[in-house]
Amino acid sequence: MRACIDCDITFKVQYCCGSDPDTKKSVDLVLADGLVVSACPSLNRDGGCNQYGSRPDPCKEYIDCPNLEGVDLFDILYA
Ligand code: SF4
Ligand code: SF4
Repeated sequence: MRACIDCDITFKVQYCCGSDPDTKKSVDLVLADGLVVSACPSLNRDGGCNQYGSRPDPCKEYIDCPNLEGVDLFDILYA
């Protein structure tokens, strides 16, 4: 399972990357299909995090995300 990697970006901005957890800032992000979503400034239009290696600690703890369906996030990210 690759839940976070394959996660739809519109789902992602609802549950984990809608704003920066430290600064609370968000910006308009224009997706490939023209849809504009409110997102963390570090989220890119491909759904990746531009500061993944140094992302804030809360970004490592989205274990309650319903899209993960009980799967251990650590296993997904580091397997
Ligand atoms: S934590 Fe949830 S919403 Fe965020 S990328 Fe992973 S599966 Fe998607
Ligand atoms: S810093 Fe990266 S992982 Fe954290 S909310 Fe922003 S885009 Fe998502």
